[in-house]
This record gives sequence, C-alpha cells and structure tokens, in this order.
Amino acid sequence: MSVRADRIDRGSASRLSDRVESIAPSGIRKFFDLIATMDGVISLGVGEPDFTTPWHIREAAIYSLERGYTMYTSNSGLPELRRAISRHLAERYAIEYDWDSELLVTVGVSEGLDLAARAIIDPGDEVIVPDPGYVSYQPCVTLAGGVVVPVPTREADEFKVRAAEIACRVTPRTKAILLGYPNNPTGAVLSRAELLEIANLAIKHDLLVIADEIYDRLIYDGEHTCFASLPGMKERTILLGGFSKAYAMTGWRVGYVAAPADLLAGMHKIHQYTALCAPMMSQKAALEAIRAGEPDVRLMVDEYDRRRRLMVKGLRDLGLSCFEPRGAFYTFPAVGASGLDDEAFAEQLLIEEKVAVVPGSAFGECGRGHVRCCYATSTERIREALSRIGRFLERRGVVAGSLPMVDETSVTLTDAGLATTGAPRGEGRSEIG
Ligand code: PLP
Repeated sequence: MSVRADRIDRGSASRLSDRVESIAPSGIRKFFDLIATMDGVISLGVGEPDFTTPWHIREAAIYSLERGYTMYTSNSGLPELRRAISRHLAERYAIEYDWDSELLVTVGVSEGLDLAARAIIDPGDEVIVPDPGYVSYQPCVTLAGGVVVPVPTREADEFKVRAAEIACRVTPRTKAILLGYPNNPTGAVLSRAELLEIANLAIKHDLLVIADEIYDRLIYDGEHTCFASLPGMKERTILLGGFSKAYAMTGWRVGYVAAPADLLAGMHKIHQYTALCAPMMSQKAALEAIRAGEPDVRLMVDEYDRRRRLMVKGLRDLGLSCFEPRGAFYTFPAVGASGLDDEAFAEQLLIEEKVAVVPGSAFGECGRGHVRCCYATSTERIREALSRIGRFLERRGVVAGSLPMVDETSVTLTDAGLATTGAPRGEGRSEIG
C-alpha cells in the first residue's frame, strides 16, 4: 500500500503533501513565540549581525530607486554583479567562474540551498550532512525528496567533521555531501588539509559537494579555504555565497550560487520559474558591497572577534565547558553542569533571567546538551547576559568566577558609518537564522 493510501485509510485530514508533513517546524520557533510576549530580553538567539548595513551600501540602493530601477533583472542577476562576484572569487580564492554560465544571483543563500538540493536530488538519494548543522539543511534535502544521513561531530574534536566518519556512511545511494563551514551553530572551521581529505573522498565515490560558505569572511584564526578551489573540486562543487553575514545585509535577501555550467543550468531552471530574480535594489546594494565593502567587513570582523573572546572567557569563567569557535558568530557551550538538558536550560534561562539562547538539539541530535549563543550583539549586552547567566547557574550550584575583563579599546563603529543602534530592530524576526 502506498504511503498516501495508508494515510487516507487512517482517515488523516491533512491536505498537505507527505513531504511537507514529514518536516518539523523550526525548533527555535517556540522560543521566539515566548520572547515576543516578554520585555527586557537580551537575545543571544538570532543569528544575525547587530550592525545596520553600512551607509554607502544603503545609499547605492536608495540611488537605484531614485533612478527608477524598480524592475526585474535578468533571471541570472545583473551582469555587473555577476562579473564582480566572479572577480571577487578569483582574487580571494584563485578560482575562476565564468560570470555568464557559472554564476547565479539568488534570493539569499537560502534560495541557493533549495535550488542546489532540488537540482541534484532524485527521490531516495542520500545526502551526508554533519550534525549539528544549520537548521535548513535537513528540510531542504527532505523537501527535494532526498534522505539526510547525519555524520556526528563532537566537542572533543572541535566539532569538525572527519573524512573517515563520512566515508563509512557512503552507500550506492549517496549523491552529495553538504558542508557548512564555518559552522552554524558551533563556529567550527575545517583546515585545508581536513577539507582535502573530504575532497579525495568525493573523487573516490564520485560525489557532489554543496558548500555553504556564507560565513567565509567571519573567520578569526587563519584563512578560509574555499572548497571549490581545492584540486578537482570545482567540477563537483556547488558553492553557496552570501552577503547577509559579512556585510550585515540579512534583510536584503541576496546571495549567489557558483557551480559548473551544467549544474548551474539546472538550478537556473528552477530559479526562473520560482523566484524570477533577486530584487533589483538588493542586487545594486550587493554590487556596492562587493566593490567597496571590504573596510566594513574588516571592522565588523575585528569587533566580532573581541566579542567572541569576551563570550568564551565569560562562559568558561561561569563554569561551562565552551569550545573556542574559530568562525561565524556563535559559541556553543555545554550546559550539563547546570543539571539541565539544553531545552530546559534555554527555557528556564529565558523565563528566569530573560536571556534567549537556542537549544543545541534544534540543530541535530549531536547538538543536544549544548546551547547556541550568538555574540553578534554589543559587549554591554554580552556582559549583562553573562552576569544573568551567572546568577542562573549559581542558583543551580555551579560555582561562578568573576566576569572577564576585555580590551575596551573598541573601534568607533559609528565613525566608520557602522551604526548598531537607531534602526528599527526586532520586528518580525526570522525563526530560522
Ligand atoms: N546558511 C547558514 C549556515 C546560515 O546560518 C544562514 C542564516 O543564518 C543561511 C545560510 C541563510 O542565509 P541568507 O540570509 O543568505 O539566506
């Protein structure tokens, strides 16, 4: 009996497809519902920069509107933007993409992820995905008809996915490996040598790789390795790149896919029928970001680094075990010392101390026992959050040390045009990022 017939026999009233029924709503959701009813919450929950998009980038979009650029662009995106992305990838990672046949401007990396999954997955194809990982990976694969095969990663191993662990999960149905490094939620980064081992595996088993490199610029120790730039990888990699995190542009909804022409043509087909194109003004803003946004990126990354060190030291001083994140803007402490599991910890911390963090199990089974704390917020708020977490832990018998001192010689972000206040924030917050 087919699944559908079985469902009808059971008298299910659902009018939704089996695929949609099979995916769970975001595990972060109930916390956001709760936060919406509370005042005075310090949110370490949402994965988005607290900076407002730098002024010159906003101005480029405003100017484009003034000039009447309010139409569709080519489905693939503005040629000048694709040329700029192509130059950017060549200069940064020494990898050549033909701007016309190998680049597609998308509605954020989110759309790129969906396009990649739908373009390559046939029903039942398996995709290997490190656990914990970004909350959209599993649903995108499932909605495309694929099967997620999680690979565990662990704090003791700095949450790195190991080629050997991937290898033992490869089957004749394996179609692709989905890598998201620097990682959300752990902040883990893979070295070039570690990525090379995965590249060799991809060649050996003839696998595709979806590389979500949205956090490529947010790296604190060393350099990011672009997976597609490794020997033999360009032809089997779908590279997803973005503007949301590096340039503080989450609300603009623009990103890109870089891939070999045959794969890109497949994604282009889906994109042209579903999204048509990314918004024109966002593409104009993205062009300004990629042309002239480098100083902003550097300022923001330096600031995130200061906050990262404050947060890691603070959590450790409070008695929590906290792996040092090497990229992105998250810490992922283990909360077992509190005697609570991650969900109870997040819920009780929110209710008792009005600090929002995300339970690690929202990102996969291996996230259980951890919580994700985003440090893309001011040092003052981080300090206040740490002091509230300290009180919360003290009540549970965890011995708290003193709060850490940090180098307060913070850059004058507003002088550099990087405002962190004044914009209407917190409205209709995403339950995903
Ligand atoms: N990929 C990862 C790993 C993310 O953390 C996020 C957002 O949090 C996205 C993709 C979504 O990016 P975009 O805003 O470009 O759609």
